[in-house]
Amino acid sequence: MPITPFHYPVAWGLSKLDKRLNLPGLIVGSFIPDIEVPFLIIFFHGVLPDHLILHSLIGAVTIGVFISTFVTVLLYPILVSMFFGVDRVKLNEVCRLTPVLVLSCMLGNLFHLLLDLLMHPFNPTLWPFIDPYNIVGILVLALAIDGDIGLGFQRANILTNAITGLLMIAILLNSRRNLWELIFVGKIYLKD
Ligand SMILES: [Zn+2]
Repeated sequence: MPITPFHYPVAWGLSKLDKRLNLPGLIVGSFIPDIEVPFLIIFFHGVLPDHLILHSLIGAVTIGVFISTFVTVLLYPILVSMFFGVDRVKLNEVCRLTPVLVLSCMLGNLFHLLLDLLMHPFNPTLWPFIDPYNIVGILVLALAIDGDIGLGFQRANILTNAITGLLMIAILLNSRRNLWELIFVGKIYLKD
């Protein structure tokens, strides 16, 4: 999978495509599916795959959206102001519970699934109806030139992380002024 923070460029890109969307909701939504990974590895190792419920469409649009909305409204302003020094009032303002915020959380979750779907060797997208191991990422298949799915996954992983990593750097370099505010709020409030 792409390293979780590397899902950020997709969230950022969506917020630029449609400026009405809520960047914090998109960011949190695009990170949330991966919170199940350590949990599944620790408690269900060998029993269940390490991607499952939150990486399924059904889980993403229900539990995923619920957790993302909760985190965006209640935790995001506290954590981002604490760790990045972004103004708490501005964060509270942008993280108010609105239909657009919930929609943005949903889009964040769905685009996380989409990116994983391209480059993951198994995908629980249609779980519990279709076995995750029957859905192999298109990029994995395309790069398994020698028919080796494991090697195809390694190549897809490196390629995806390289592209999203470079996009992260480009976004960072592009946002020198009020860096953290641009990154976590999405717009600069000129009247300070
Ligand atoms: Zn994932």
